[in-house]
Amino acid sequence: RELPGDPRTDLTPREVMHACYTKVTPSAEVDNPQLVAWSDSVADLLDLDPQEFQRPDFPLLFSGASPLVGAMPYAQCYGGHQFGMWAGQLGDGRAITLGEVLNSRSQRWELQLKGAGKTPYSRFADGLAVLRSSIREFLCSEAMHNLGIPTTRALCLVTTGKYVTRDMFYDGNPKDEPGAIVCRVAQSFLRFGSYQIHASREKDDFGLVHALADYCIRHHFPHLENLSKSDSLSFTTGQGDDSVVDLTSNKYAAWTVEVAERTASVIANWQGIGFTHGVLNTDNMSVLGLTIDYGPFGFLDAFDPSYTPNTTDLPGRRYCFANQPDIGSWNIAQFAATLSTAQLINDKEANYAVERYGTKFMDEYQALMTKKLGLPKYNKQLISELLKNMAVDKVDYTNFFRLLSNVKSDHAIPDDELLIPLKAVLLDIGKERRDAWTSWVKSYIKELSTTGISDQERKRSMDSVNPKYILRNYLCQSAIDAAELGDFEEVRRLLRVMERPYDEQPGMEKYARLPPAWAYRPGVCMLSCSS
Ligand code: AMP
Ligand code: MG
Ligand code: MG
Repeated sequence: RELPGDPRTDLTPREVMHACYTKVTPSAEVDNPQLVAWSDSVADLLDLDPQEFQRPDFPLLFSGASPLVGAMPYAQCYGGHQFGMWAGQLGDGRAITLGEVLNSRSQRWELQLKGAGKTPYSRFADGLAVLRSSIREFLCSEAMHNLGIPTTRALCLVTTGKYVTRDMFYDGNPKDEPGAIVCRVAQSFLRFGSYQIHASREKDDFGLVHALADYCIRHHFPHLENLSKSDSLSFTTGQGDDSVVDLTSNKYAAWTVEVAERTASVIANWQGIGFTHGVLNTDNMSVLGLTIDYGPFGFLDAFDPSYTPNTTDLPGRRYCFANQPDIGSWNIAQFAATLSTAQLINDKEANYAVERYGTKFMDEYQALMTKKLGLPKYNKQLISELLKNMAVDKVDYTNFFRLLSNVKSDHAIPDDELLIPLKAVLLDIGKERRDAWTSWVKSYIKELSTTGISDQERKRSMDSVNPKYILRNYLCQSAIDAAELGDFEEVRRLLRVMERPYDEQPGMEKYARLPPAWAYRPGVCMLSCSS
């Protein structure tokens, strides 16, 4: 490790100056820890034989109770803007990196235990995690990956056998909950805040921003090293002829632009799939463009642009579904400003990165929505009309798109039969709304008929981007309820279903059902930040 670390190993909460990390040791108490669930595909990334999951000491190793041979555990120092306000030092308060695995394909994977005890960054909190939120993080990491969305992964989930006390936000009463630890895996857990913290301190620490940028480029963006003029990375910005940004002359500017574009891409994917992150603070923004930190996230059931799964986000709804693209832009602007403060890029390059975020987001989002509808080309009016209708009638986002591929591009279908393929999602609508939907389906069929693509081929293409199965909050909750009673089978079954979200899975249809009424109670459809 070539970055400066904090040599003190005590866990006293403190400001850690002039260092990117602190050596720590996992310290969560365990009592007969149990393996709840694991991911064979993540094991494969690590060249880990799946037989290893059955080792009797596996839960001890992955709760941090027994040291892993070769590990060098540390907690990262980072800062961040929380809800738009600079919050100073945050850091890995309950995540501890064990080390990195270099696999046979020369890929580097970082292993991190979440909930394994205090670090110097724990501030006022306990460094622990409960089973409820660990199940959510474990399942959602794998569900997102299988949906094709960049994300941190999860190798395994163990219970600690100890209880953790949490205040329940909806009734204010403290509750003892089973403790648990997820082993997260990513090529890197570096965040925007990993850079912001050092730029926010004395000028001396600008060197750390520089060193950490070099580290990240060397390990994770090696194609940006030694750019040459022939890489044609010169661009004219929208600000007039003299505003040419030549990314080949500054690898940090090229890097900032790539971080911006990856961020735009992951957020476009969230909008397409109906995912709301819930806590898009800059410390939860990955420089690799991964979805990171699964807390009070939520998938859309009924379409509602103002949906936020996070109780802490009320009443402002800064992080609601529809705001995510703008928040991404705001966050990229903070990241670019950080690099400009540390003098790695100039203001023009910083502005340019934000501009490229916007362009990339629109390109990807439009392409994705076009594909979701199986259209020949982007049709702004048709799409915005659809989303408006969906919001009015609170239509289930996932099931609507899945069913839409059954609409036939046939002009001869009588008006009163046009909505038949969609009847399972157009519930309880009156005559007026029925007419609005009929008229929309007619324009849709008209647009489709210009494609020359067969209905069958279109269905195949649409079903490859419109999942049948998503990790709805109520499904998670059922698995959590069973697990809290000691039955882990439902967590494992849900993982298996979410491994093939785009496939029809005979016998598993109940996992594609609309949420039952109890899904709307507090604690299921809305959660608080850090549990
Ligand atoms: P989050 O809102 O989940 O991104 O967390 C914000 C900050 O709080 C991060 O620095 C976390 O490491 C820290 N944090 C959250 N929960 C805990 C906890 N139970 N113990 C210690 N630190 C925590
Ligand atoms: Mg976080
Ligand atoms: Mg968190």
